[in-house]
Amino acid sequence: MKPNKIQTVAVYCSASVKIDPLYLDAAREVGEELARRQLTMIYGGSTRSMMGAAAEAVMTHGGRVIGFIPKHLKKIEVPKDDITELHLVDTSHIRKHLMFEHSDAFFILPGGFGTLDETFEIIARKDLKLHEKPIIFINVNGYWDALSVMVKNIFDQNFARSEDKDLFQIVSSVSEAFQVLLGEKND
Ligand code: AMP
Repeated sequence: MKPNKIQTVAVYCSASVKIDPLYLDAAREVGEELARRQLTMIYGGSTRSMMGAAAEAVMTHGGRVIGFIPKHLKKIEVPKDDITELHLVDTSHIRKHLMFEHSDAFFILPGGFGTLDETFEIIARKDLKLHEKPIIFINVNGYWDALSVMVKNIFDQNFARSEDKDLFQIVSSVSEAFQVLLGEKND
């Protein structure tokens, strides 16, 4: 997808309330920068932790957020009902599918098993050439360093189908993520 065609960006990130506040700051920065560029944020619809912080920042800065949350998670994840569109869906599977369909690109912030589940599905689908959407890990606080080691192993030992090492990028800051996604230049 050409950078100027990108209108919606999925943000996958943690719903844990026990993490260091520095991760919440990174989520807020992503939200603010999405709003500034008039890019709609697609996400899991929760108020919790980084998910809620990113969505809140988009809304505070005049942007658009579309959330998809499964009915069975209503109590645990607490839906964020003050966003542009909140969709209650039947299953986590449907949530993942709708998030994928509505997104032109993906930002992967630090997260746990849920974030990894969502992320590896879109990487595996890209490896099978089922889509070409950009996938960008934002390596806040070196969180994804261990993943880089694992990924190198996968490519070095030919465990990936694709020979294209650009299945995804890992960047070190929020501003770099936007540079890679949109071809923005540093001032
Ligand atoms: P976590 O990274 O574990 O904090 O989870 C981040 C988000 O991913 C939460 O909203 C979880 O509900 C969601 N999640 C966890 N597992 C799945 C799944 N199998 N499909 C879709 N979303 C999931």
